[in-house]
Amino acid sequence: MTNIVKHWGTLAAYNWRPKGGTVEIRWEILQIHPARPFAISRATTAEKTVILVYIGRGVGEAAVYQSHGDTFEGVLAFLREAQGVLGEDPFDLEGIEARLHRLAAGYTSAKNAVLMALYDHIAQELGVPLYRLLGLSGKPMPTSYTIGLGTPEEMVQDLRAHPDFPVYKIKVGMPNDLEILQELRRHTDKPFRVDANGAWQPKEALRKIHAMADLGVELVEQPVSPEDWEGLAYVTARSPIPVFADESVHTTRDLPHLVGRVDGINIKLAKSGGLREALRMVAVARAFHLRIMLGCMVETSVAITAAAHLASLVDAVDLDGAYLLADDPFEGAWISHGTLHLPQRPGLGIRRRSP
Ligand code: MG
Repeated sequence: MTNIVKHWGTLAAYNWRPKGGTVEIRWEILQIHPARPFAISRATTAEKTVILVYIGRGVGEAAVYQSHGDTFEGVLAFLREAQGVLGEDPFDLEGIEARLHRLAAGYTSAKNAVLMALYDHIAQELGVPLYRLLGLSGKPMPTSYTIGLGTPEEMVQDLRAHPDFPVYKIKVGMPNDLEILQELRRHTDKPFRVDANGAWQPKEALRKIHAMADLGVELVEQPVSPEDWEGLAYVTARSPIPVFADESVHTTRDLPHLVGRVDGINIKLAKSGGLREALRMVAVARAFHLRIMLGCMVETSVAITAAAHLASLVDAVDLDGAYLLADDPFEGAWISHGTLHLPQRPGLGIRRRSP
């Protein structure tokens, strides 16, 4: 259980001077490691680099999201620029968010980190947990456990090592998907959700989804390629179980295109650009009768806890990203018997583990 700090620095020794005080901004680059290499149809993650942003009392996390244009250097460059547009009032998150967007399009993981740190900072200033600042319940929520791609034996072993979860999210997108699902089904009666991460062709998707529905799969995530809108619509119209978009949806602006083409969406803070946009997505998705999953990246308890403060708003919680790590340096929201619990400390409620 090592916590490797590769670099520790300051953003140009920056002191933000909002009205009434000085707020220090720092950043930290961390390498984190899943307990076992985490494989999906697009890639395998054995090590992930995240950037922690500290603003005053708050902390935020940028899980650099390479497949959508974020790069590590780009995120750092954006953070250096971001310090100049924070303005005078840390509580004016709407204004700060707008100025971050004017600075540059994209950079959603960096924007998420800045806003996350500011939310943590102001909620601590107010002395309330973030969910209370947002007017939410903060109740414990069941979460899924994610089983990455592997051999059928490895995936069964992973399932059996985590017997307490109420639902399992199974990564698929291999030629032997059905064989794997059949094998896993021999070891549990719990519901499955599957995530193809865009790996299937529409006709292949339908054939597999029909067989999987008979194996107790309750929903399917991103069956076809993110840009294949018509493929998504084709699959959704014929699927016996709900179809959720993940890679096809980032922000509220994507939702009109998805209405009628999917049954639900997977919201992730690193894709949306932060908590405020995630809240807007929830509202707009509800208006369109879309179901909502709240998902995550491979990331530490900082980002997972931030998302967990929104968990009571959604239909399906998939926030096991930090639970899968061998070396999470932080503690915040925690999972016990497949249920996600929020800390009751002010702000996000994050604490650094002692080394
Ligand atoms: Mg997904």
